[in-house]
Amino acid sequence: MTTAKKPPPRRPRQPEPAPAAENCGTCTGSGETTTTVRVGRKRREIGATQTGLCPDCLGTGTA
Ligand SMILES: [Zn+2]
Repeated sequence: MTTAKKPPPRRPRQPEPAPAAENCGTCTGSGETTTTVRVGRKRREIGATQTGLCPDCLGTGTA
């Protein structure tokens, strides 16, 4: 009876596919954020939106 153990076959390490440019989570890659326009001292919403530069990615759209 042999006690020689076969070493488990080594799995070749597969390189993980690098994700293509990761989208910014704040603007979802658009580089712009949409904010609701509020007017007046009570900050009433008028149902309009405006877009602005994403503060997280500064418009690049990638995190
Ligand atoms: Zn962004």
